[in-house]
Amino acid sequence: MAARNDHILIIGAGFAGLAMALALLRAGIDDFTIVEKADEVGGTWRENHYPGLQCDVESHLYSLSAAPNPDWSRTYAPQREILAYLKRVTDDFDLRRRIRFGTEIVGATFDDRTGLWEVRTRRRRVGEHEGERSEREALPLVGRPEDDRVEGDAIRARVVVSGTGPLHKPAFPDIPGLEKFAGKVFHSARWDDDYPLAGKTVAVVGTGASAIQIIPSIQPKVGKLHVFQRTPAWVLPRPDRAYTAGEKSRNRRFPLVQRLARAGIYWRRELFATGFVVEPRILKLLEGLARRYLASQVPDPALREKLTPGYRMGCKRVLISNDYYASLGRENVELVTDAITEVRAHSVVTASGKERSVDALVLATGFHAADQVAPFDVRGRGGRVLDEVWKAGAEGYLGTTVSGFPNLFLMVGPNTGLGHSSMVFMIESQVAYALDAIKTMRARRLKLVDVRADAQARYNDEMQRRLAKTVWSSGCKSWYQTPSGKNVTLWPGYTFEFRLRLRKFDVAAYELVLDEASEPSVVPARDARVSFAN
Ligand code: NAP
Repeated sequence: MAARNDHILIIGAGFAGLAMALALLRAGIDDFTIVEKADEVGGTWRENHYPGLQCDVESHLYSLSAAPNPDWSRTYAPQREILAYLKRVTDDFDLRRRIRFGTEIVGATFDDRTGLWEVRTRRRRVGEHEGERSEREALPLVGRPEDDRVEGDAIRARVVVSGTGPLHKPAFPDIPGLEKFAGKVFHSARWDDDYPLAGKTVAVVGTGASAIQIIPSIQPKVGKLHVFQRTPAWVLPRPDRAYTAGEKSRNRRFPLVQRLARAGIYWRRELFATGFVVEPRILKLLEGLARRYLASQVPDPALREKLTPGYRMGCKRVLISNDYYASLGRENVELVTDAITEVRAHSVVTASGKERSVDALVLATGFHAADQVAPFDVRGRGGRVLDEVWKAGAEGYLGTTVSGFPNLFLMVGPNTGLGHSSMVFMIESQVAYALDAIKTMRARRLKLVDVRADAQARYNDEMQRRLAKTVWSSGCKSWYQTPSGKNVTLWPGYTFEFRLRLRKFDVAAYELVLDEASEPSVVPARDARVSFAN
């Protein structure tokens, strides 16, 4: 009887990859490997480290349910603290030894015959995108040397869980002459901590979630700051404060209290979903609040006018900040609403013909999210290419599987994004689904599970029908949509509905193929070495 290869490959060691690993350990499944392109865990919280970066979801909700953190310093933790939290979780659950750092996935091809994914990797230079550094030493291969799952730079796995995330491909603006700029230019997601901003004339392009955190942080340091705004955002104050030592100690002594606090945040945020997905007119009430906040922060009527959005709140991401508006009123800041027409070697030119000299250009221009291009070359059954299948817009089933690409689970796949709550909650819903699928495969000796095309088509019809009634279809242009206007990024409902729908792996929606060559494998009992809060 042939040995069954049930290896699980997790791609990425950010929130999604680590959540999947914890769930597998909790279920007593430890035949998995995590592959991470960088030399540290953290995903988006490692890659993004621009000044002022703070999560805009409360930390007690924006953390793993299996690893609550009683010591969050404040309501909305800063990036450094979230990254430290993820490193701590990795160490506490002894995950580091399961991660192949510095290894990038080049491509994954599904072998119809064996029902296995053949995943090609390449060693990556440390900090490759930040510039050349020394070549990393040869990485240890996973498993025993004779392990047939690892062949040089290829890994064979029954199941692949991709936790690469949709917000990691920076979008660079298509501005004529940008490549000729001779000063310092960097994208918000590629911040250069070594570049001295003090006294410099800096231009920030964009006024989205990243920009409104960068601007107030760098404003006191720089000589002059030009903020280039294309579309003003709706901004609400951030109800942020530091937690007291007493609150942290109470969280430690009474974990239930912290869990209740988390639940309180969760349900308060769910109320917001009503405005986004059921009755967008509700958001009109919040527009009044945002206008009053703007008026209280920006006394200059001309500046206020420029900052007043002309679309329904929620259509683009609602931003929260306590210091963005105030920073725009400082003497060294200019808000430019004239479109940029050209970048020259040392300046930025706008439609009015005005030329502004700048030393550094910060591109806070977002990510390629709606493209939902496959994170690497993915070839499914019969050699079909995921990028080709997704040419007209990404589609999946429950945001997690894609027909024709068996045994592949995409964390934060199509239509799983949110405008109102924690993505960690969505990720953990997907993790539960993938885990149940893995257990089903093992218990039933399945070689492959492939979502049926008709089930996927019905699901996507439902998504688009529901999305048409949401605030995101109220007429603005946003990164949620493809150029043709199809929303492939957001979930059109409450998050508890998502959780309920992904509670169990619904085999009826799948084509199942039995692995004739193997004996049934036993799904182990819970791993006694690991304890979890819930
Ligand atoms: P974003 O929200 O897509 O904002 C990009 C900004 O750049 C927009 O203001 C956009 O204007 C502008 N822009 C793009 N191309 C331009 C061009 N050619 N000329 C002028 N302006 C241009 O990107 P982001 O701020 O990086 O945020 C992306 C997402 O990341 C957020 O929505 C959020 O989900 C996440 N994020 C979260 C946090 C947090 O939790 N703290 C922080 C940062 C980001 P238009 O509006 O006119 O397109």
